[in-house]
Amino acid sequence: MPVELITVLGATGSIGASTLDVIDRHPDRYRVYALTAHQRVDELAALCRRFLPARAVVGDARQAQHLRTLLAGLPVEVDHGPQALIDVASAAPVGAVMAAIVGAAGLPPTLAAARHGKRVLLANKESLVMSGDLFMQACREAGAPVLPIDSEHNAVFQCLPARTQQGESAAHAGGVRRILLTASGGPFRTRTLAQMRGATPEDACAHPKWQMGRKISVDSATLMNKGLELIEAHYLFGLPADRLEVVVHPQSIIHSLVDYLDGSMLAQLGNPDMRTPIAQALAFPTRIDSGVSPLDLLQVARLDFEPPDESRFPCLRLAREALTAGAGAPCVLNAANEVAVAAFLDRRIGFTEIAEVVDHTLQTLGVPAASRTIDDALALDRQARSFADRQVLARAA
Ligand code: NAD
Ligand code: MG
Repeated sequence: MPVELITVLGATGSIGASTLDVIDRHPDRYRVYALTAHQRVDELAALCRRFLPARAVVGDARQAQHLRTLLAGLPVEVDHGPQALIDVASAAPVGAVMAAIVGAAGLPPTLAAARHGKRVLLANKESLVMSGDLFMQACREAGAPVLPIDSEHNAVFQCLPARTQQGESAAHAGGVRRILLTASGGPFRTRTLAQMRGATPEDACAHPKWQMGRKISVDSATLMNKGLELIEAHYLFGLPADRLEVVVHPQSIIHSLVDYLDGSMLAQLGNPDMRTPIAQALAFPTRIDSGVSPLDLLQVARLDFEPPDESRFPCLRLAREALTAGAGAPCVLNAANEVAVAAFLDRRIGFTEIAEVVDHTLQTLGVPAASRTIDDALALDRQARSFADRQVLARAA
């Protein structure tokens, strides 16, 4: 079997680290072609020494110069900026791209990978939420397989019939009634709204089950993450909003389920460790070791389920409304949320103000027309960001 070359976008992040851990276990199957990071140059240098990629990309020219100095003598070509990300995601030798940049910044290189027919290992949910139709269309046109990394979507992918795994809509194939996404409930599952008002970034990032980057950790605390995942599921699997449900499952052992017309429900179970979906997607359709310990059912002992509470977690309702409204609404939701989460992490607004900023942005911008091109989607993203920015400024004043 030939060795496949992999580009890891966002190599210094949480998903990046898990991806490199899996790749490292299988030198006979995978080799790193390129690694990218935004700012953490020293960490990227350490990864470059360990994995010896042909190319490395950082945020700006000064960081690139610093990285070149750190890597002096090694055959790693160093570059910087958004165009360099696109180049390493679409370069001819690359077989698969791990799209693990956080936020809208991940869209251009992920789309470039799709347009060049690469296997797209999709962790960056924001790019799908911003422009899901355009993104999926680009993948279909180029014949680029999309392998979901988000644990819920990876679980659904594993539970769907084979035809849908080849890109057919789950709405028509294989007797699927609905998809159920599980949610851990995040660190504030049992807190009152009043308690959440005083939450700090440290509280919000202390997830009970998953070790993740700060942005997605805050999204898990507001349940916006589950809302983004509903939208992500709609685009990935083609089901309408009323056939996508969320169930809170605090143990995070069942990663999601597919409900079939004949009464069967298929679930994927495993310890909560992102190396499982990463290994599944990397090696699909074969199975490889991921380093994750086997699930001990006797130790788990019980699985609990409860409905999500949208009055304490309004972000989930806002996301569902944006999905139902369609057109440009999910793009606006995502942009406003990115701005609000960044402001919360900088301590410029409070935790419960995240939902308020998103709600106000959605109400004010209404339902913008569906983007016809990626440039349209990026323009709408900028418009929603500047509106949300102004609200943050007004609140922080
Ligand atoms: P992280 O914050 O740990 O890492 C983000 C990576 O993106 C870093 O390597 C950083 O250098 C890079 N980056 C940040 N801003 C950038 C920019 N403007 N330009 C270029 N690179 C930039 O995030 P993470 O937790 O690894 O999540 C990555 C993506 O995967 C997110 O979209 C997240 O929603 C998704 N995801 C993560 C998990 C998880 O368990 N961590 C699970 C499901 C989905
Ligand atoms: Mg998830």
